[in-house]
Amino acid sequence: MTVQHDIEIRLAELLEILKDEEQRQVGYPTNQTFDYSPLIPFLSHSLNNVGDPFHQTNYRANTHQFEREVIRHFAQLTGLDPDDAWGYVTSGGTEGNMYGLYLARELHPEGMLYFSEEAHYSILKNARVLNMPHTTVKRQADGEIDYDDLRDMLAVHRDRPAVVLATIGTTMRGAVDDIPTIREIIDDLGIAEHYIHADAALSGMILPYVADPQPFGFDAGIASISISGHKLIGAPLPCGIVLTRNHLVETLGRAVELVGVNDTTLSGSRNGLTPLMLWYAIHRHGEDAWSETVRGMLDTAEYAVQKFNEHGINAWRHRNSPTVVFDRPPQEVFDRWQIAPEGDVAHIITMPHVDFHTIDLLVDDCIRPRPESPPEHDLQPAETGLPAPEWETEPIHAATMQRIVIMAENRVGIIAQIAGALAKNGVNLNSIATETEGQHGVVIITTDRTDHALAILNQAGFKAVSDEAVLVQLPDHPGALANLAGELKDAGLNIRTFHIIERRDEFATAAVTTDDQQRAKAALASGYTII
Ligand SMILES: *Cc1c(COP(=O)(O)O)cnc(C)c1O
Repeated sequence: MTVQHDIEIRLAELLEILKDEEQRQVGYPTNQTFDYSPLIPFLSHSLNNVGDPFHQTNYRANTHQFEREVIRHFAQLTGLDPDDAWGYVTSGGTEGNMYGLYLARELHPEGMLYFSEEAHYSILKNARVLNMPHTTVKRQADGEIDYDDLRDMLAVHRDRPAVVLATIGTTMRGAVDDIPTIREIIDDLGIAEHYIHADAALSGMILPYVADPQPFGFDAGIASISISGHKLIGAPLPCGIVLTRNHLVETLGRAVELVGVNDTTLSGSRNGLTPLMLWYAIHRHGEDAWSETVRGMLDTAEYAVQKFNEHGINAWRHRNSPTVVFDRPPQEVFDRWQIAPEGDVAHIITMPHVDFHTIDLLVDDCIRPRPESPPEHDLQPAETGLPAPEWETEPIHAATMQRIVIMAENRVGIIAQIAGALAKNGVNLNSIATETEGQHGVVIITTDRTDHALAILNQAGFKAVSDEAVLVQLPDHPGALANLAGELKDAGLNIRTFHIIERRDEFATAAVTTDDQQRAKAALASGYTII
């Protein structure tokens, strides 16, 4: 077989897989219906949008002109005068959020960042990267930020500028945090300096096109916004935009002589192709076509809610949201469909490639009678008279309840120290339990504010980890890890992270996260000690 032939086969196979998967990709908000083939010639050119798209640069193989047009377009969509707008095309939602938070931190170095526990995982990561003091705020059951808790948290730190991250369309439930209410609370408390960043990854492309949008833009009082490009618009490469007011970034720039650019963006070299793609998508379709697309998505979402409910599967969605939340289906459905689960619910997002027919097929699969012997990890109660899987009879922690595991020496006063550190910082303990092994001990607590408690404990010098992970004790000898990995693999679970958090003479304590923690616990329960 020639090398050339080999290469072709590999590529053809990959293409087949992608085409096949796209049909059943209903759980993640990526539009699959785009066509950028007129841009193919640009793949033969080296493009680099290094630097500020609104400044002159010496490096001319760029698409800055197109990038500026994209930014102005999004300004119009988000209630900002295009002449006042500054922004750039990012590598995705995470970078857009990082930019907004970076700007907030530069403008308000003493600020405290607030975000809901429903916020995207990029927010906590960004807060850590930027070393921003932060406070997580509870969420309501439907995914919107809990305004009472926000008020309480803001009141605690009312002497500091408030940086609030509002999610406009949460990833899991499509909830929109209400910006007018957030502003009202800030005003009420007399907090003079504030900055609101909107994480509008998906809904930033939806709300501009509906008749009764929730307020989300600059006219509602935000200072910056991040919107994804590869989600609703759709693109073969991840991308997004970040947008703010021109005068806010003026302090950030630093001229770099080498390439003659104003260095206002997070990365140096930047993708020149994605601004071109977004520009093309915006102009190729036009505003009426985008309105039509959004209407179609929301119609399909409503159809899905009704169809699920008709078949006895509890389903709902937020106003103006294509995210349909429904009872977690049996495991076989996940094997066939790309769906995102969270605890006892799952969601689909009716992106443009999802139509009524797709919904019919999905609902059929969700209600299809179970095979005679249900897999032991099946999440639904067994309908066949077989005993329920063992783990089902054990208490299962609610999806939102997280434990904190603290590795500590087994000595007098340790619990008092832990409880004291938390109490001093206003964190309530919901439960506390200890396990000791000779000199060593593990203290397991639950609190009303996991992230906060973790930060406090780590600052106080404890080795504390949040227990989204399953904690297992492994014999500390070669091969033990391979055995564990094998058991998870046999159960059809992928290992996401694996950390040895403690080593003792005979065994090690490891924290494992997988696709599905409840199933992982079940798979490991018979052979291992789970803490
Ligand atoms: C998808 C998403 C992001 C992040 O997007 P990436 O492009 O993956 O970095 C941020 N926030 C929300 C609410 C999202 O849904």
